[in-house]
Amino acid sequence: MSQDFDVIIVGTGAGGGTLAHTLAATGKRILLLERGTFLTREAANWDPGPVFVDGRYISSDTWYDGDGTPFQPQVHYFVGGATKLYGAALYRLRPQDFGELRHADGISPAWPVGYDEFELWYTKAEWLYQVHGTHGTDPTEGSWSRQYPWPPVSHEPRVQQISDALEQGGYHPFPAPCGILLNEADRAASECIRCATCDGYPCLVHAKADADIIAVRPLLGLPNVTLLTGAEVVRLETDPAARTVTGVVVDRGGGEGSGGEGKREIYHGDIVVLAAGAANTAKILLRSASDACPNGLANGSDQVGRNYMYHNSKAVVALGEEPNTTVFQKTLAINDFYFAGDGREWPLGQIQMLGKSNAMAMKGEEPHLTKLAPHWSLDEVARHAVDFWLTTEDLPKPDNRVTVDRDGNIHLAYTDTNNSEAAALYGEFRKMLNHIGMAAHHVLHKNFYMSMNVPIAGVAHQAGTCRFGADPATSVLDANCKAHEVDNLYVADTSIFPSIGAVNPALTAIANAIRVGEHIAERLGVSAGAAAWAPAPRQAPPGAPASAPTAPSGGGRS
Ligand SMILES: Cc1cc2nc3c(=O)[nH]c(=O)nc-3n(C[C@H](O)[C@H](O)[C@H](O)COP(=O)(O)OP(=O)(O)OC[C@H]3O[C@@H](n4cnc5c(N)ncnc54)[C@H](O)[C@@H]3O)c2cc1C
Repeated sequence: MSQDFDVIIVGTGAGGGTLAHTLAATGKRILLLERGTFLTREAANWDPGPVFVDGRYISSDTWYDGDGTPFQPQVHYFVGGATKLYGAALYRLRPQDFGELRHADGISPAWPVGYDEFELWYTKAEWLYQVHGTHGTDPTEGSWSRQYPWPPVSHEPRVQQISDALEQGGYHPFPAPCGILLNEADRAASECIRCATCDGYPCLVHAKADADIIAVRPLLGLPNVTLLTGAEVVRLETDPAARTVTGVVVDRGGGEGSGGEGKREIYHGDIVVLAAGAANTAKILLRSASDACPNGLANGSDQVGRNYMYHNSKAVVALGEEPNTTVFQKTLAINDFYFAGDGREWPLGQIQMLGKSNAMAMKGEEPHLTKLAPHWSLDEVARHAVDFWLTTEDLPKPDNRVTVDRDGNIHLAYTDTNNSEAAALYGEFRKMLNHIGMAAHHVLHKNFYMSMNVPIAGVAHQAGTCRFGADPATSVLDANCKAHEVDNLYVADTSIFPSIGAVNPALTAIANAIRVGEHIAERLGVSAGAAAWAPAPRQAPPGAPASAPTAPSGGGRS
């Protein structure tokens, strides 16, 4: 196999997978390097025991908190990255999120591009990931140039009841945008909807619009695209001045479960793009230190790894007398408290519905939950539960940061921000519950749905470690997401976020990856064409081998 490529992309998740999809039509030689493997389709995909209790799809990585205490982070190393497990709630940031916003704990800084400029790529992202929704129903949303490709997923009766009651109470619920391939879901019978947008489940029937299914798999037969799995990038080599990346050093087969370091290989790309997720992208840059850049590559500003954000979130179970038989629950959201105003001093954030909980996933919360409803067993509690997710913006703080120790381990120092805003959002939520007849409720641990008891381990929404900006003194990347200090190095994952807003991050990462991909195509003198607009090719029916990859080699757990 050739070691030389036009573009090397590290990571196949929301950022890397989408970027590859954008560039594939250019005909340029693209190498995708992914440390994980394809996630195995197996009965356990849908089983809350292995998924939530055993953490079957969570990496066995050990990271360390600011005090040096080890923890297992909620990271997922597969083709498709975290999107294999995500809830596919695909929101745009609000236009105001692209500007500077004042918060209780400080400033949420502006992005170097505005919403109006970004809007085109949001639209492309929504069409590529086949989002179901209705623009024009959320009073806080920005302008849009094209309606979603598909109408919203209908509310099931209990959610419709809640939506109606909220409207009667003067609230503005709207249909949540969902990335789901309903044709595939229909083909596999309605049961598959159970996992298609439930957070934390892989989709056994491939009906979730994740980066594997939408962006990477359709490229597998192309002669100009090579995917290596079990290929962990450990560092980048550069010219003596650290201005050009000259080699991408890969550990093959030394991944999880392989019992040690594998074979080292070095690949060369005219352009190298890191999209390994916010913590791992920072790790690669920090481990690429050399005499010319002793603090890490592209890190003259000392910003690499800093400004880590991950949302100040709460999962809340609300209990009512009415049973909740909903299967597909993530169809409703409310942004009424997103901004300051109407008597609120600060922006508070978003309320959305979570995937439907079940007794198995609630096990750790049993004593609290059954105390709320002593006449019910845990199964009964689960049958009546309605699940919500409250998100408040987290602010970029320089001391919230990723560092790497001598052995290459990730250390994550983190202190919460905007706790008073999160508390106020919960207060608004409680008032709101009164309108839907569900006063009894319980705040679950933030990571309950992944059965984790270390808050910092909930890195699902990690972002901000290589922010983009106009000033090389305060940012790592320029407005095109090219490293200020390196001529051929880009970053295209959630690392680039200068601020995170209070909506889920994936659609913004996807839109930005299309944007960066088009810029790189232009730099290479070719056009990315309409690739990103085209709806993803339909996948083969469940179980059919047509588009299924051959078993990948190397490490990675699945
Ligand atoms: C349970 C869960 C639910 C979520 N729900 C939602 C949701 O509903 N909506 C939403 O918007 N967001 C959601 N998210 C977050 C969303 O999935 C992430 O924001 C998004 O995937 C981030 O994209 P990324 O490209 O930065 O990283 P990822 O998608 O994680 O991709 C990083 C990739 O890099 C690979 N990699 C890492 N290190 C290396 C290395 N050294 N060498 C080679 N490859 C490497 C990883 O294996 C992975 O494939 C959820 C996340 C989780 C875990």
